[in-house]
Amino acid sequence: MINPSEAAVPTEHTDPERRRVKSVVVVNTGDGKGKSTAAFGMVVRGVARGWSVGLVQFLKSGKWQVGEEKVCRDRLGVDWFAIGEGFTWDSTDLTQDEAVAQAAWAHARALIEAGEHRLVVLDEITYPMTWGWIDTDEVVATIVGRPADVNVVCTGRDAPEALVTIADTVTEMRKVKHVYDTGVLAMKGIDY
Ligand code: ATP
Ligand code: MG
Repeated sequence: MINPSEAAVPTEHTDPERRRVKSVVVVNTGDGKGKSTAAFGMVVRGVARGWSVGLVQFLKSGKWQVGEEKVCRDRLGVDWFAIGEGFTWDSTDLTQDEAVAQAAWAHARALIEAGEHRLVVLDEITYPMTWGWIDTDEVVATIVGRPADVNVVCTGRDAPEALVTIADTVTEMRKVKHVYDTGVLAMKGIDY
């Protein structure tokens, strides 16, 4: 059991046993609700500290995430890259979904390597990794080789082992219940 003094982690602690790091890699995975929501929470924290924040969505969302997309873009100034945006598809060897995922990854990679954002969120990136649409080794190498003060948050179910290995903080959201399983539709304001 955690005691109350441990639970209240001070923001600036002076524990000489602890070291400072310039950035971390966070993975939110598992089958329960909250992976993307937790990432958006970190976006708000970063913005609150005056950071530049970038977010790349790896799954086509349709109208799914317009809520947070609009707030993040228009009110918080987040550089939000919605998959498929401004995308022209001229490859013959790839399916359109693969090509779109690869374009999103190319954008995400450039964003990380440029080092102009203190926080880069790769929302739902685990799916194209699992499906082999983008190269897991390349994603992992890019994250490992990132500029020192770029924090990276990855979300999505079934995070590949290689990603979990290089991450600093990994949380598995476990579904205890989800209202969707009782036949309820996704709700505006709650789910998107
Ligand atoms: P959220 O965006 O709510 O944080 P998430 O990122 O953890 O959810 P995703 O797998 O990205 O989960 O799912 C996106 C949508 O599916 C959200 O509307 C979410 O409420 C819903 N969802 C999440 N987990 C489940 C689940 N176990 N069963 C059914 N629907 C789910
Ligand atoms: Mg999600």
